[in-house]
Amino acid sequence: MSFLVYSEDRELAFQILAKARELADAKGSEVVALVTDGSPQDYLNQGADRALSVDGLGGFAVAPYRAAVLKAVDEAAPELIMMGATKRGKELAPRIAAALAVGCMTECYNVDLEDGRIVVERLTYGGSTIAKEYSTSVPTVITVPPRSFDKLEASERSGEVVGLTIEAPAPELKVVEVREKPKGSSDVENADIIISAGRGFKEKEDLKILDELADILGAAVGCTRPISADLGWMDEWVGISGKKVKPSLYITCGISGQIQHVSGIRDSKIIVSINNDESAGIHGVSDYSIVGDIYEVVPALVKALKEKA
Ligand SMILES: Cc1cc2nc3c(=O)[nH]c(=O)nc-3n(C[C@H](O)[C@H](O)[C@H](O)COP(=O)(O)OP(=O)(O)OC[C@H]3O[C@@H](n4cnc5c(N)ncnc54)[C@H](O)[C@@H]3O)c2cc1C
Repeated sequence: MSFLVYSEDRELAFQILAKARELADAKGSEVVALVTDGSPQDYLNQGADRALSVDGLGGFAVAPYRAAVLKAVDEAAPELIMMGATKRGKELAPRIAAALAVGCMTECYNVDLEDGRIVVERLTYGGSTIAKEYSTSVPTVITVPPRSFDKLEASERSGEVVGLTIEAPAPELKVVEVREKPKGSSDVENADIIISAGRGFKEKEDLKILDELADILGAAVGCTRPISADLGWMDEWVGISGKKVKPSLYITCGISGQIQHVSGIRDSKIIVSINNDESAGIHGVSDYSIVGDIYEVVPALVKALKEKA
């Protein structure tokens, strides 16, 4: 029995490997990584005992990746198949579970052992409650969102690297056109400092005051879902249905603190909030609160920081 880890996103694969290592050590079992990109040794250094390497995968079709994971399952005989909750992982996990006729639990932000049984935690009811779940099937497939676990310090570890060959399945889709993603979306997911805008902003142009603050702090700029999905002022939002973040500093500007937003920022080290309503829920989850108007407080912060610099 083993813990099989796969994500095409290397950083996420390393984060999941750290958790798999902990579980495998507790159960006296092994960690196996499926590697479709990069050096298998890196995966050993991040906690895997064995790296199963498949070359030549790429493109948008999911079928070759499905074949690779099923081959890895044959090889590793896992009790738990842990996949990144990425675009590809979300496509793959249910396909793997269906192929093996086993259970699948998605967006598991925690995985633990209770009386020898694997138990996961998932957010439910829009992030207002936590469900603890386990599957009765072996193996079980789960997906894990980014930043749920911290990766291990890389260390030179020895392990086995095995090359796998797969039968290339017939393509199930034809790529008609590839377009570059529009520029302008800041990389909030990996940022150490984030300033986020909410409906407190009245006009898109007003968001410029955040850019100045972001420049001084070296921060990325994020927003709530209405700013992005409803108003279309920014590409991506932070929260349960958007990006989950884990910065050292998260500054909210004109954000009310609805659970769907807060559940995406709960792992931030320090939360500072600016909101003119002293009863706004965001103050209750903040380390520091400024009850004031963003149109006055943000320029004042910029001025103060410039003077300090
Ligand atoms: C299924 C589902 C998923 C969702 N997923 C997400 C998600 O992932 N992320 C997300 O963000 N939302 C999500 N939402 C939406 C969420 O429920 C809230 O509607 C949203 O987070 C509120 O955004 P907001 O705080 O910007 O706006 P509001 O709730 O309107 O709050 C605006 C705040 O700005 C303050 N304000 C106004 N003017 C000023 C001023 N001049 N100075 C200072 N403060 C001011 C007000 O006091 C108020 O508190 C989801 C909703 C659903 C149903």
